[in-house]
Formats: sequence, structure tokens, C-alpha cells
Amino acid sequence: MDLPVDEWKSYLFQKWSLLPKSIQVTISTAETLSDVFLHTSSLLQSEDEMFLKRLSRGYLVGKDPNAPLFYREKGNKKFQEKDYMGATVLYSKGVSHSRPNTEDISLCYANRSAALFHLGQYETCLKDIIRAQMHRYPERLQPKLMLRKADCLVTLGRLQEASQTISDLERNLAANPTLAASQFQNLQRTLSHLKMKVQERENLTETFPEALTKAFEDMDLREENERISNASSSVSLCTDPLKGRYLIATKDILPGELLVKENAFVSVLNPGEMPPLCHGLESKWDTRVTNGDLYCHRCLQHTLAPVPCDGCSYAKYCSQECMQQAWDLYHSVECSLGGLLLTLGVFCHIALRSTLLARFEDVDNVIRKLCGEISNKDICLPESKNLMQTLSDDLGGESEENGETVETPIPGCDINGKYENNYNAVFNLLPHTENHSPEHKFLCALSVSALCRQLEAASLQTLTTGLKSSQPKAAMAPALCQELHIWGVAMLRHVLQLQCNAQAVTTIQQTGSNDNVVTNSRQVRLATGIFPVVSLLNHSCSPNTSVSFRSTVASIRASEQIGKGQEILHCYGPHESRMGVAERQQKLRSQYFFDCNCPACQNEKHRPAAGPRWEAFCCNRCRALMQGADVLSCDNTSCTEAVSRDHLVSRLRDLQQQVGKARKLLRNGKLERAIQLLLGCQRDAESFLSAEHSVVGEIEDDLAQAYATLGDWQKSATHLQKSLQVVEVRHGPSSVEMGHELFKLAQIFFNGFAIPEALSTIQEAEKVLLVHYGPWNDEIQELQKMKSYLLDLPPIPAGPSV
Ligand SMILES: [Zn+2]
Ligand SMILES: [Zn+2]
Ligand SMILES: [Zn+2]
Ligand SMILES: [Zn+2]
Repeated sequence: MDLPVDEWKSYLFQKWSLLPKSIQVTISTAETLSDVFLHTSSLLQSEDEMFLKRLSRGYLVGKDPNAPLFYREKGNKKFQEKDYMGATVLYSKGVSHSRPNTEDISLCYANRSAALFHLGQYETCLKDIIRAQMHRYPERLQPKLMLRKADCLVTLGRLQEASQTISDLERNLAANPTLAASQFQNLQRTLSHLKMKVQERENLTETFPEALTKAFEDMDLREENERISNASSSVSLCTDPLKGRYLIATKDILPGELLVKENAFVSVLNPGEMPPLCHGLESKWDTRVTNGDLYCHRCLQHTLAPVPCDGCSYAKYCSQECMQQAWDLYHSVECSLGGLLLTLGVFCHIALRSTLLARFEDVDNVIRKLCGEISNKDICLPESKNLMQTLSDDLGGESEENGETVETPIPGCDINGKYENNYNAVFNLLPHTENHSPEHKFLCALSVSALCRQLEAASLQTLTTGLKSSQPKAAMAPALCQELHIWGVAMLRHVLQLQCNAQAVTTIQQTGSNDNVVTNSRQVRLATGIFPVVSLLNHSCSPNTSVSFRSTVASIRASEQIGKGQEILHCYGPHESRMGVAERQQKLRSQYFFDCNCPACQNEKHRPAAGPRWEAFCCNRCRALMQGADVLSCDNTSCTEAVSRDHLVSRLRDLQQQVGKARKLLRNGKLERAIQLLLGCQRDAESFLSAEHSVVGEIEDDLAQAYATLGDWQKSATHLQKSLQVVEVRHGPSSVEMGHELFKLAQIFFNGFAIPEALSTIQEAEKVLLVHYGPWNDEIQELQKMKSYLLDLPPIPAGPSV
């Protein structure tokens, strides 16, 4: 997903292998990225472009006129089955394939409003009703829509508007004699019912709360750092030749303190599974739900009712405003390139978007330059001197302002030594040019030059056909081809930088069906972005911070106490609780080009090769740990047990298969059988896995889920507590994983009315989750609701009250 699709990759690797040795050497030994780009792009042939075009055409990214009806019918089916969530998503897909101001789009919006009404999403429902009406909703169907609108307004307590809508509706009915008699009667009946509802509400003395005000306001940085934007004054930026740039604590920092709160300079939503279109009729339109259907493509907020781009079917937004902003900033250029960008991968997409955003980073600057020095070459690179400087340095050119340049103390900082979230900082992130393999550089450079060619073609087309949007900013796109070479080199630099500097934007998604009493959650990757300040942090396999996201904003909080002078560390992915030391070292070396020497790595390297405890086998006879490579022997010196690793591994595989079966039973509501199977798995696991083995924890977790569904809270809690122990050993008592597990336990106690246990678990869970997420986290809000509910309960009467 980050890199181009496999077909394009292998096509280019083949092309590389067929190049004459001399050309390979020229590219391999090129000193600057500019040279790499120059040599490579001259090798791009039209047949390559044809091949790439064929791959790109495999994605359904345009609007298909036949799709809206298909999705609407599929949606109606779900609606009839009362699967309103499923219906909503299908109507959304219908919306994205519809052209604006058509009956298609208005019908999809109207149907979606009905599904949203049933989901209790009244505000969003109202928005969709207005959208349907804006896009020419058929007059004959208006009464139905107006009824729904009135119903929404009543439910929301907006009675005046409701009354207004009702009288509009009455006028509409009176003026509309075309309605069939039975239809008319139906509407009349519903209408009088609704009027009664308004009356009832009006009689209630109680006023409705405006909207539930959030329990906590979002936490901000206590004091912003003067030299690093988006960072707290508790940290400072240092640099040394070995570590590069890094942050240290300027004072003692407590767990949970917010250290960095930064909006992404650029982010691109990972569309999720979006397989190239198969040419069979069956799968022409995809009915599966992906992240691309549920999250705004600009701000990444979750949305049940996305608004699509007018020009394509793949870009969807939470609101008209987000759509407009995206269009002005980058989508006017990207819109026609959807298939190509999916083929070339997220890194190329981010590279393009970064350069597009840079154009507008300092709009004033751009406009001044445009008005002032029209003939100047700087025109298409508004980042002025700094960028021009860095670019021309990289291009091997000479600085235009010899002697006038001020030396910046730390790369990426401005002349005053301030580090900011801007294109200058992004540009200064290291591309590690010398570390990438020649094939990889060739792949990236050729992909970027293919993208440049397409941009050129698209801009020309834009020039000849005129812009769809009246936005003046979009008209600047053609300027882009003037300096396509500089543009290309900049993009190539970004693609290479991303391997080490891309930050995954994640969110916690709840899994399982809605009727589950205990919610499971998992972390999913939503988008990839560049965060210049977050990028200053070095890696540790046992970091002292924790990162979380809200929309496109990253928050870094101290996850433990950090002493004054200590380095602030962040985990790039290979966490000590997720993989063993060898795997981590290998991953960090191949992706990030360094040897990790963090305390976790040092500790583990000096310990005998025991492997992590959550993967350990234990002795069948005496339960001591088993150690060894191909043949494992018991740790207990008085025991002679020895087993081959292959045997244990295959037993583990069988066990996991059984657990999988049990989960399927669980999903299908066959609880008793699931429990039987799981109890068998538990016995089996005990005979050869360590008590802290992750599979042991998973089995306990599933048992807890099963008993909770049966309403046996006590048993459920007992099993979850065992799973909690496994999580604690692996991730630590104050880890975020522990927080999620405690949240589940709190739900179990809450549902079982075990009040003292529930209250103490809620408190524990809150404490852990606050450190990692801050107060706005969904789970914390939920915990607080549970707590106030329990505290408000009347005291339990002593005896039976007859
Ligand atoms: Zn949005
Ligand atoms: Zn579009
Ligand atoms: Zn390490
Ligand atoms: Zn033994």
C-alpha cells in the first residue's frame, strides 16, 4: 500500500535488470537525487506509461452512471432487513457515484436520511434531507421527506421548526391533488400523530439540554515551546552527529503530560482494501465497507454520511467545507489521477500532496511573488529562499544569494532558529539517499517521473478544457509544469524520506457486533502522514511516550516519568512487547538504517536466547519453561523432558485452529458449543504453553466474552482477570493494552452490578487510559458515564420491600 502495486514493482525491477551495466552504475553512483531523477526519467518510455495506465484503469475511481441504482437497491434490501448501518454505507456508495443535481444523488441522500433516522442520528439525518432537497429531490416524493424532517426536529426538541415544517407539509398536501387516496390518508394519519407529539413535548416543562457538553475540554499544551512549534516547553531540541536531531526533557515530566500536539503537515487516507476491479459482472461494484467509506478524506473524522467529490467516486468528505478545502488545496489536481495514485501507492501520493500543499503554505508570499516577479523562476516554489536554497543545494546548483545566506544552527529551523510545522521542516527530513538500494531508487524515481508526465498532461488538459471549479487557486496548477524537474526531485526526496519518516495515523475501532455487551477494540491504521515535530523523536523499543490521534492531530504524552535531561523517545513500530530482539533489530536496520541500542535491546542481547515469555513453551511434566533451538529441553535440571520445536509449533498451530473455530461459533451465537471448545483449548494450552503465552490470554478473553453474552458475569470476570494477567506480563501494568483490558473488565462488573468492583476497576482503567489518550478518549468518556450512573444509584434497601 505504501509502495507501488506489485505488478508495477516487478515490471520496473525487470526493466532495471535489463539495463546496460553502465547505466546501472551511473544511477547507482549518482551523487545527488537530481542526478538520479535525471538519469532515470530519461529511461521512461511510452510503453511503460501504457502499462501503468492499464494498471491504473483497474480501479473504479470515476463516477459510474449505473452504480447509483445498483447501490440503492442493495441498500434498500439491507434497510428491509433492518441493517441500517449496512444500508447507510451502501447509500453512501451510491451517493459517491452520482453526479451533482441529479435524481440519483437526491434519492440516495433521501434514502440514507431514512437509515440515519433509524440509527438515531437525527442531526445527520437532517443534513441529508437538506442535501436531497438541494439536489433536485422529486416533487412527488417531497411529503415523505418533509414528514421525516418534522419527526427529526420533534425528537431533537426543535419544536418551532418542527411546527413550521408541519404547516409547510400541510400546504404541500393541499396543493398536491395528484397523490393517491390511500397514500394521502396514510400521510394525514402520520401527520396528526406528529402534531400530537409536538403538543406533548410542548407540555413538558423540562427544557431539552442543548447538546451534551463534553465532560472535559480538550487538553492543550501547558506552555508552548518558543523554539519548536507544537511542542511543550518541557522539551528542547538538540543535535549531535551520531543521533541527529532529538528532544530532551528540560524538567521532570510526569506520566500523562502532553509533550507534542501537532497537526499533520500532510496526510493521505489509506483507502483500505480496494482491489483492482475484476472484469466479471458480479464484482463490478464493491459492496464491502472500507475505511475510505467511513472517514473523511481530508480531516480523517469518522462520518456516517460522507459527501463525495463532484468529479470522482473515491474522494469523500465529512462536510461540504472539507470537500471545498481539499479541492482548493490539492484535490483539483489529484481528482483525475485517482487510479494512478492508487497504483503508485500512498508514498507517491503523499509526495505529490506535500508539494501541492507547499504551494499554498504561505499564500501571501505566493501572491506577492506572483504579482511582483512574474518572470522569476521562483514562481512555482513559493517557499521562497529557504526552499529554493535547499533545493538548489540538493540540485548541486549554486546559491543565488552567495554570502547573504545565514547559517541555520539545526537543519529544518528557520533563520531565527525556530523549528516549525512547515514545508521547510518537511523538506529537511533525511531521505537517506545513500542507504536505499539502487533498484529501490530506480523504482521510486521512475514512478515519480511517470506521475510528473501525467501531471503535465492533466495540466494541459485543464488549460484547454477550462477548470470545473471557479477557484482561482486551482488555476495555478499549470505553473506546476514549468519546473517539473524541480518538482520531480522534491517528490522523489519525499518518497525516499517517507520510509523513515512516515507516521501511521491510527484509530481505535470497536470490533464485533453491536449487541456485544463487552466491546472489543483494536487499533487500525487510518492514514499515513508527515509530522515534522513528531519526526524529531528518536526510537526506542521501550519508549517513554505514547502517541494517539484525533482527526489529523497527533498527541504525544509521557507514558512514564521522565527525568530532566533524559531523551524523549517514541516507538517506530518494533515495540519490545510485540517482537523479539532479533526481529526488531532486523526491522530497524532494513527500514530505518540504524542499529538499535535502546535499553530493551541491550538487556535482551545480554540475556540467553530465551525468547519472549508470551511465545514460550513449557514442560509437559513439570511446567518449567522449555529452552533451546531445534530441540527444546526443560529448564528444570531434575527433569529430562525434551521435545522438538517442530512438534511444539505444529501443536500450537492446531490449537490456534481450534480457537478460530470456537470464535466462529461465538460469532454465530452458538455459545454453549463455543465454551465447550474453548475449555478444551484451555486444557490443551496448559499442557505445553507458558502461563503467559499470548494464546492462553486470547482463550481466556474469548471465554470471558462468551460468558458475558450468556449473562454469567462472575465467570466472565474470572476469565478476563486471567487474560489481564497475561496482558500485564507482556505489556506492563500501565500500558495502553492494559487500559483496554481494564475497560472491558469494568464493563463486565458494571453489567453484573458488582458495584464496588466496578468502581475500582473504572478508576484503574481511567488512570491508565488518561496517560495515553488524554481526557477526550471515547473509552474514558464511557467510563465516566458508568461511574456517574453507579454513584447515582439509590442505596440498596436492606430487606425485601413489600
Ligand atoms: Zn472532514
Ligand atoms: Zn475528485
Ligand atoms: Zn531497541
Ligand atoms: Zn520438566
